[in-house]
Amino acid sequence: MAVDSALSSPLGPPACEKDAKALRFIEEMTRNAEAVQEKVLAEILSRNADVEYLKRYKLGGATDRETFKSKLPIIKYEDLQPEIQRIANGDRSAILSAHPISEFLTSSGTSAGERKLMPTIQEELDRRQLLYSLLMPVMNLYVPGLDKGKALYFLFVKSETRTPGGLLARPVLTSYYKSEHFKTRPYDPYNVYTSPNEAILCADSFQSMYVQMLCGLLEREQVLRLGAVFASGLLRAIRFLQLHWQALASDIESGTLNQKITDPSIKDCLGKTLKPNTELAEFIRMECSKENWERIITRIWPNTKYLDVIVTGAMAQYIPTLDYYSGGKLPMACTMYASSECYFGLNLNPICRPSEVSYTIMPNMAYFEFLPQEPSDSFGLTSSDPQPVDLVDVEMGKEYELVITTYAGLYRYRVGDILRVIGFHNSAPQFHFVRRKNVLLSIESDKTDEAELQNAIDNASRLLREFNTSVGEYTSYANTKTIPGHYVIYWELLIKDSANSPTNEVLNQCCLAMEECLNSVYRQGRVADNSIGPLEIRVVRNGTFEELMDYAISRGASINQYKVPRCVNFTPIVELLDSRTVSAHFSPALPHWTPERRR
Ligand code: AMP
Repeated sequence: MAVDSALSSPLGPPACEKDAKALRFIEEMTRNAEAVQEKVLAEILSRNADVEYLKRYKLGGATDRETFKSKLPIIKYEDLQPEIQRIANGDRSAILSAHPISEFLTSSGTSAGERKLMPTIQEELDRRQLLYSLLMPVMNLYVPGLDKGKALYFLFVKSETRTPGGLLARPVLTSYYKSEHFKTRPYDPYNVYTSPNEAILCADSFQSMYVQMLCGLLEREQVLRLGAVFASGLLRAIRFLQLHWQALASDIESGTLNQKITDPSIKDCLGKTLKPNTELAEFIRMECSKENWERIITRIWPNTKYLDVIVTGAMAQYIPTLDYYSGGKLPMACTMYASSECYFGLNLNPICRPSEVSYTIMPNMAYFEFLPQEPSDSFGLTSSDPQPVDLVDVEMGKEYELVITTYAGLYRYRVGDILRVIGFHNSAPQFHFVRRKNVLLSIESDKTDEAELQNAIDNASRLLREFNTSVGEYTSYANTKTIPGHYVIYWELLIKDSANSPTNEVLNQCCLAMEECLNSVYRQGRVADNSIGPLEIRVVRNGTFEELMDYAISRGASINQYKVPRCVNFTPIVELLDSRTVSAHFSPALPHWTPERRR
């Protein structure tokens, strides 16, 4: 029930007093975005005035924007690598931040094939928590009654390592789920999960998924929303159900836990609640044994009001599959925009269509700057050296690269995300996530760029030398029609001696040779998370890439400027390539991966 009008917010009537407070906070921050940003920068610079990095640029204690911008360079991760390495090696002096670095967050963005290490400080957890606390008050404005049921969210922890200096290195969500902020969160009727903490915190991904699915099935009528962080995660859960529904149904029927579940805390927790339920087991068998899995989500969880998954950016490729499993009618809510470096903001209209999603950056999270993306001329040159602008100065319709200065000690750091302004809430801009810079292929959190793909092709091509064969042309495609998705690489081969052309076995090995060369996030997806399927090479017949060029030219490309696209996703082009495919080859084994870094 909505609270009285005295609490009402311009965003809408809050569902309860706690929500009213959160909505007021959003209003306050977005109305005063300019002043909040000024204050945030002054806070960051004054508390860190004596850190080595800032002293190097001779800020002389200044905390104003003009001095800051005139003295500090805009940097990339690679520029910070020496400082990060020193911290990782155990240097505890104030290099980047006056507050001690509490741990490293391992980004899915990579540098030289390894995950980037993002320094963080203890109090950042509070900031992340604050952003999380704003999500349900906004959602409650659009979807009433969420306190009458539960959320089935598939949440996982991943492996963690220690740096040579002893600091923990792990993904930001693993850090959050293992924190007291999450583990001992107070009961909130609007945010009750079917998954027990014991299942979320289980490091074995099979056991974790099995138990989360089991609990979701046991409470299927209470489930009001289903989710995972990214769309790919929810689809993996559906795939898991496809593979394991018989075992799950048999546990439900007998009221006992599958022998593969050995984690003592899970056994302890479920042992008390699991009771035989023949009727439910029969229902699951009936639904899951059907050939057709269309609408399976709404068939099993009939009270689902929306899916809580990110389907913006690289995840947009999963929308058709999610629509298939949910009957095309369930909204897909993209609630927030965040990264290992910093949590940025939230979607104030979460039930909108995926194409209309915008994120409002919360000005209290960090100091934000925006590098304009200037349109380049026909020679690929931009007219001037674009200067970054402040949060409140971005212009409607324009695209920018996000640059952040954080409490944890990143100063004018390029995140690599391109955002377009599509509106304002009060004085805070709302951004459409356009793309991540330089990402060619992505299935889940993996991000492969053009140089990495080229390097992988070079590595694999070595195996062709003894056959006097080389790769004449190539392109690639992220195939997400299968679960898990996989990389498809199209090769046009130059075979000099057709009597000695590479065998099927050699081409399979080429797939593996490519995988061995891809970055550690890709290999982790293949080996530990099972979120990426074996890489596939499709050999196309000679002349295919010329046809590709003809097609592009027929659609207006200039002959002089035409370059083979290294990744394709336009359906007619993929269809053309597929129709010219003469053989397909898959990686026969898993590439190497361990949680430890290679360097
Ligand atoms: P990570 O570095 O692994 O923490 O990943 C952070 C990156 O994921 C961001 O910089 C974005 O590129 C992407 N990302 C995070 N949230 C969203 C979102 N809501 N929509 C699209 N991309 C996102």
